Amino acid sequence: MTASTASPLPSVNRQFVLRARPVGMPKESDFQLVEARIPALTQGQLLLATLFLSVDPYMRGRMTGIRTYADPVDIGQVMVGGTVGKVIQTTHPQFQVGDVVAGYWGWQEFAVSDGKGLQKLDPHVAPPSTALGVLGMPGMTAYFGFLDICQPKPAESAVVSGAAGAVGSLVGQIAKIKGCRAVGIAGSDDKIRWLTGELGFDAAFNYKASGNYAQTLKEFCPRGIDCYFDNVGGPLTDAVLPLLNLRARMSICGQISQYNAAQPEPGVRPYIHLLTKQARAEGFIVSQFADRFHQGVRQMAEWLKEGKLKYRETVIEGFENMPRALIGVLGGDNTGKMLVAVRQAL
Ligand code: NAP
Repeated sequence: MTASTASPLPSVNRQFVLRARPVGMPKESDFQLVEARIPALTQGQLLLATLFLSVDPYMRGRMTGIRTYADPVDIGQVMVGGTVGKVIQTTHPQFQVGDVVAGYWGWQEFAVSDGKGLQKLDPHVAPPSTALGVLGMPGMTAYFGFLDICQPKPAESAVVSGAAGAVGSLVGQIAKIKGCRAVGIAGSDDKIRWLTGELGFDAAFNYKASGNYAQTLKEFCPRGIDCYFDNVGGPLTDAVLPLLNLRARMSICGQISQYNAAQPEPGVRPYIHLLTKQARAEGFIVSQFADRFHQGVRQMAEWLKEGKLKYRETVIEGFENMPRALIGVLGGDNTGKMLVAVRQAL
């Protein structure tokens, strides 16, 4: 076996494993930084050096120990997550040293892979980090979750919660591209300025400064709501229900306001609103659209090139800051896509 190699090669891999199942908001002590030896490659393998780690709210769900649509992370297991990295050693015929790839090797600085599930990236087409954001899972969530489920029509009103995050910031812009009136809900005045300024939302409000969600929504949506893209659930979504127009569509993407709740919060009963408005609420998991991702990525890349779509990244430097970054995304520290950049001395 001959291995193609970039030198010097590392021998130690730093990883974050789950130490404890969180109660409420995760704490840094729920994670443990461990060191593992990097094994020698066998034929058909490659060694990856992580460049970017994706930081996503769903990771909170994987820490609970409960199986939902995916398996939970076990205590002592490396935390799961999307990644972008560089090939630094290879015995795999289809990968060369220097190739940049996206994959799902979790919270670790290095990974040995057999190449399965890796997607080669062309850094000339788009910055590699976009494979974890606008051209990756969050981008596909916005594209299919909004277009397939809300089926927006020109002049309709589209409301998105979690509007300044990775998914929500794209949903509002897609709503504009489709001719809708886009209204965003987010958690700071700076985020609201970004939405209504650079991103071109028609209106947006800071829910943390609103004393009465129902009243504020009424002011911001004087002609009711045709499409609602729900990233947060809880009292904001409760306040949307009475404003639904006839045959409105709700795309249930996330419920982040509930992810740290020890007990389900009591809420309004939604069905009377769906009944009287002949409305539809539909949940989805982005992987259900996997066989059409190539179409979604092609369209999003085209909109980016045409300047119709903009994106922002909040990048935290340093692998050791990954737990802090996850706690940060759950608490609203990010504008756009939250990432951790891993400095590799290679
Ligand atoms: P994100 O929006 O970039 O980050 C999460 C944001 O949620 C925070 O920045 C924070 O912004 C907001 N937030 C936190 N607690 C909140 C609360 N109590 N009420 C209202 N907003 C709150 O994350 P993302 O990756 O784009 O994901 C957005 C949602 O989509 C999440 O719920 C996620 O689980 C879901 N998701 C679902 C799928 C799927 O397949 N269904 C795929 C990807 C993501 P503020 O400053 O505005 O509070």
